[in-house]
Amino acid sequence: MKLILLGAPGSGKGTQGQELSEKLGVPVISTGNLLRSSIREGTEVGEKAKSFVDAGKLVPDDVIIELVRGRVKAPDCAGGYIFDGFPRTIPQAEALEDQGLSPDIALSIEVPDQDIETRMTGRRVCPDCGASYHLVSLKPAHEGLCDTCGTELIRRDDDAPETVKARLETYHNQSEPLKGFYERRGKLKCVVGTGSVDTIKLHIFEALGL
Ligand code: AMP
Repeated sequence: MKLILLGAPGSGKGTQGQELSEKLGVPVISTGNLLRSSIREGTEVGEKAKSFVDAGKLVPDDVIIELVRGRVKAPDCAGGYIFDGFPRTIPQAEALEDQGLSPDIALSIEVPDQDIETRMTGRRVCPDCGASYHLVSLKPAHEGLCDTCGTELIRRDDDAPETVKARLETYHNQSEPLKGFYERRGKLKCVVGTGSVDTIKLHIFEALGL
């Protein structure tokens, strides 16, 4: 299955993407994680992307499209994939279509802005495997350490309160119109993204008929 996860930053795409990946046996492709790795490794893409990511702004479409094009060629994508955080603009969605990589379903996880701000400022992530936690609502088994790989958790620079506001504005202006794009193609499904991780997972699996 080729699935796109839509929703504001912090709406749970990363957490639910992992659940879906296990259920469907296909990889999650998170452009945010790909960019963060590129920045850490100091690659050419990382150099181009860093100032945009730090400011909570979108990285130019051509950089992102190139990054995704390379990733979907990998053998683990042969049976499908889950995009988390891509596409984020209409030109990115059109580029996917042009390359014959249209999704089967675009699933939007709906969370009010107020909840997003609380979630993101308390979010902690694993810099190694990308797993996501929360100081209050989704604590790891051992404080400050990733359950999956034991790496020390960090707060992402762009989860600082002032950057969260900028990212939400970017989401509403540039990414939310994707819902209309996929609705017109009969591919949009929306789920309520508030409540516990397990409840949201149930809504999602039901919406996808899993
Ligand atoms: P995320 O981890 O998905 O919240 O992404 C973190 C940051 O990476 C975003 O705030 C953007 O600066 C950048 N980014 C991730 N995915 C995209 C994309 N599809 N298009 C443009 N910028 C992106």
